[in-house]
Amino acid sequence: MSRRDDLEEQALKLIIDKGTDGILQSAMWRKLKASSREGSRICLRLEAKNLINRERELSKGRWTYRIFFKKRLITIDSLLEIPCMFCDNTYRCELDGEISPAACVPLTTWLFSFEEDPESS
Ligand code: SF4
Repeated sequence: MSRRDDLEEQALKLIIDKGTDGILQSAMWRKLKASSREGSRICLRLEAKNLINRERELSKGRWTYRIFFKKRLITIDSLLEIPCMFCDNTYRCELDGEISPAACVPLTTWLFSFEEDPESS
């Protein structure tokens, strides 16, 4: 793994660990021992991959960005929304079977619900 990919992975882990608090860009670069130039490039790549968003913030008299993980973290509640969790056909459902996820209306409806709300995927 290249230093760039390694830093990108470390940055993403750090951002995910900070959860809804997010992390200041400058604090992140310090933790990763990256230059601001390297840091900015990593941010641009993560933004291009739609993994993070940045919010402008005044910190110690200087404008910077707070970085947040964009994807919703998996919670127990989100798992309970999956139709298969409480389906009576779970043990009979097979891709090539008579009961199949390919023809399942509740599963299809649930999957398409993410198209209406891209933030929830
Ligand atoms: S795909 Fe549909 S039928 Fe199959 S287990 Fe999930 S909810 Fe049940």
